[in-house]
Amino acid sequence: MHPERRELWRETHLLTPDKKDLARAVLDQIRRGRDVTQTLRDYPLKDGGYLNKSMLVSIYNELVAAGEIAADSQLLERIRMKPMRTLSGVTTVTVLTKPYPCPGKCIFCPTDVRMPKSYLPDEPGAMRAVEHQFDPYAQVRSRITQLESLGHPTDKIELLILGGTWSSYKRDYQEWFVKRCFDAMNDFSNLPSEELKIATDELPNAHTYNETTHHRNVGLVIETRPDEITTDEIRWLRHLGVTKVQMGAQSLDDRILEMNKRGHDVECTRQATALLRAAGFKIVLHWMPNLHGATPESDREDFARLWNDFCPDEIKIYPNQLLANAELYEYWQRGEFKPYTTQELIDLIADIKPTIPRYCRVNRVIRDIPSTNVVEGNRRTSLRQDVQAELKRRGTKCQCVRCREVKGKSVSAESLQLDDLVYPAGVAQEHFISYVTPDDKLAGFVRLSLPEKDSPPTGISDLDGAALIREVHVYGQSLPVGAEKDGAAQHAGLGTHLLEEAERVARENGFRRMAVISAVGTRGYYLRRGFERGELYLTKNL
Ligand code: SF4
Repeated sequence: MHPERRELWRETHLLTPDKKDLARAVLDQIRRGRDVTQTLRDYPLKDGGYLNKSMLVSIYNELVAAGEIAADSQLLERIRMKPMRTLSGVTTVTVLTKPYPCPGKCIFCPTDVRMPKSYLPDEPGAMRAVEHQFDPYAQVRSRITQLESLGHPTDKIELLILGGTWSSYKRDYQEWFVKRCFDAMNDFSNLPSEELKIATDELPNAHTYNETTHHRNVGLVIETRPDEITTDEIRWLRHLGVTKVQMGAQSLDDRILEMNKRGHDVECTRQATALLRAAGFKIVLHWMPNLHGATPESDREDFARLWNDFCPDEIKIYPNQLLANAELYEYWQRGEFKPYTTQELIDLIADIKPTIPRYCRVNRVIRDIPSTNVVEGNRRTSLRQDVQAELKRRGTKCQCVRCREVKGKSVSAESLQLDDLVYPAGVAQEHFISYVTPDDKLAGFVRLSLPEKDSPPTGISDLDGAALIREVHVYGQSLPVGAEKDGAAQHAGLGTHLLEEAERVARENGFRRMAVISAVGTRGYYLRRGFERGELYLTKNL
């Protein structure tokens, strides 16, 4: 590694000496028989938050390698991360694009020339990218190797590409970046050299190869700005294999957007969301409370607007955090901006969380920025747990997808109820068709979108007159292909039943065609269920 990079890596490495000392104490307690989770809770970090199991495993390995402690397989087994990450059936691999500016001028957004816009070098998700100098192949390979060493299945991978505004990177860089990620997922070790040449020359060939390889890509996510979403852009995103788009909405109030120099208005977000929906993408919106000009009360009103027209499938709540390398810092110095306190934030999020519709998944309630970067305001990264505790205290609960997932629980197929939640989403009628357990947990769902006559034209012939399957998701521990586990939801054929139900609903509503936005690695799944290859989607006559 280049010495400067190494320095940056060292400087930003999460396992600082005080964390290592803490981890040693935690390991000692666990070795004496104490409960792992409780012990981690009993040793909080100085600025809030807790050590996690992967840090414990790293430190354990270091101590064993240095001869400071003897190898202890029982201890290792207990501290190994249980497969929480894969409980929703899919393992996420996060990669960052190279340092690059963004056309946006948002006053809250940090700038660090060493990083893609809006990222800090010591964010946990960014450190692997720094270590690998933003090389996509190395990032994906090292993550897969790490996951395998922790005992996780890696046959179904959702690739999450982060970094500023994806659409502002040059297209040849975008294509190269995605292809190198696929090269890393495609296992070429057994290929004869002629086939190897074909599989590695162009993106479509890398895609085709991935359809049958060991590490299949079951989702590809990018993040961009609403004003980048055009018909040309959605066609390009499909060419790359993108299935899900994260977009910063931040606020649904033009006054707040302007005060924060977002550079687009609410109507732009509305149109971008409608176009993405019409093209079958899964939509993740980022929403930021505590922007310049907002109050907890205006944030409550703003949040309610999300569920008219926009109706994101997933949201990330990113409370604005005051950082020294963002323009907002000057506003704060002049006394024009004041961050909410931790308690104000907990109260706000505990108020809005129970109002989230059952079709939406809350991925985050705070961004994972190390607290040392926060100038004033909340420094707790464990806000999600704090909010859960507050909800419990109030006797209310959140019904979002994440809060209702079955997790690793056994599911008896006979006990499941089929439910169809119908809701208007701008110019489409959405059906969130799900299988629910008797205690209201989600075993699986399909997102069926029925475009209405005002739905924006996409210019993609695969979609003409078609109902859209935007997502099929069946929960249960992500098992290696072919592995059996009684009761795991993924193996109860739920996906097929959900698809059949979606087809029935689409026919009932007058649709004669169906299109699915398939990730590259799930094409085979749909082809086996009667879909055919179109130009950018898989389609089926009903
Ligand atoms: S669009 Fe996103 S990355 Fe660009 S400046 Fe705004 S917040 Fe930062």
